[in-house]
Amino acid sequence: MAAGKRDYYEALGIDRNASADDIKAAYRKAAMKWHPDRWVGGTDAEKKTAEEKFKEASEAYSILSDPDKKAKYDQFGFAGVDGQGAPDFSGGFGSLDDLLKNIFGGGFGGFSFGNAGFGGSPFGSSSGSSQRVYKGRDIRTRVRLTLDEIASGCEKQVTIERNIPCPDCDGKGTRNSSDIKTCPRCHGTGNIQQTVNSLFGRTVTYTTCPQCGGEGKTISNPCRSCSGTGLVRKRQTVNVKIPAGVEDGMQLTVRGEGHAGQHGGISGDLFVVIEEIPHANLVRDGQNLFYTQVVSVMDAMLGGEISVPCLDGNYKVKLDPGTQSGTVVKLRGKGLPAVSGYGSGRGDMYVKILVWIPRKLSSSQKQLFNSMRGEGEFTPNPNRDDKAIFEKEKKIF
Ligand SMILES: [Zn+2]
Ligand SMILES: [Zn+2]
Repeated sequence: MAAGKRDYYEALGIDRNASADDIKAAYRKAAMKWHPDRWVGGTDAEKKTAEEKFKEASEAYSILSDPDKKAKYDQFGFAGVDGQGAPDFSGGFGSLDDLLKNIFGGGFGGFSFGNAGFGGSPFGSSSGSSQRVYKGRDIRTRVRLTLDEIASGCEKQVTIERNIPCPDCDGKGTRNSSDIKTCPRCHGTGNIQQTVNSLFGRTVTYTTCPQCGGEGKTISNPCRSCSGTGLVRKRQTVNVKIPAGVEDGMQLTVRGEGHAGQHGGISGDLFVVIEEIPHANLVRDGQNLFYTQVVSVMDAMLGGEISVPCLDGNYKVKLDPGTQSGTVVKLRGKGLPAVSGYGSGRGDMYVKILVWIPRKLSSSQKQLFNSMRGEGEFTPNPNRDDKAIFEKEKKIF
């Protein structure tokens, strides 16, 4: 085994009999957490850690997702797959979106909305060689969602400040079309050509025209509202459709809802980063939900019914007589849906039962329990039917 290298299963946080789906899900989780895209704003140390963790998970996944390599690894360890593990990241890590798309095979469809936002004809198409198309800048914003909104999907309004075509000049930069003239310096090409003759021959270089800034046109009487830029800043509200099942940190792209491009160019995109508001009672892990329910000694001993707050309303769960503290009840399909294109089905909800032991008892209660103290049913006994519990507890300590 290579020195200091972590076991592939351990690296992905799964056990040896994990299914192909489990392996995929574990890698997805690791990528969501450690992909360099998620740490752009981190410190150098954080970036380095994330990169290492991501590489480690990617290597583990490349082996464990391949049945042949997995079998060799299971049998011979690192020696069985020597040198086949590490994916080549010399050309960069690629984007997280692309990666998720590759693992899950789904389209990007669920994440892109809106129109391409081409507004009018690109400026310069009539001026010969200058085919400059202006693209507006992208905008990044955040949206906060409750778990309920995430479970069902929703529509959110986000307010952003963005450049839009100036309404006073229609984005042209001047009210009068006759005030737009072909630049006399570059004759509309936007470039200045310079030819230098030297010992080594003739060299032709092109530089951006300083008079028109490369636009090929000059405006003699600029619009006052936009100072001739053709754009003004405005606070606007955009409706964003959020698909069900999104996770904290995911980014949705709304095409064409960023800043408008100059001179009728293409609008940039709006990126909406998901922020999940923690739920008061439920804890989320991927598509699964976790909930802890504390029950009375009587309910645990005699059995009963508890009400569990699921995302689609309260759900009644039957407690068997003799339910042990720490018992986990699985409610199939009561978790969250997968984001369309990134998986399928619904996750599950896990309810952990804890038994509440009263801290204070009245003297008559004490007497009652004391009278039962010696009785066999109340004495823990590993050789009886509770064997599984004793085994489990041993493993924890
Ligand atoms: Zn204007
Ligand atoms: Zn010019």
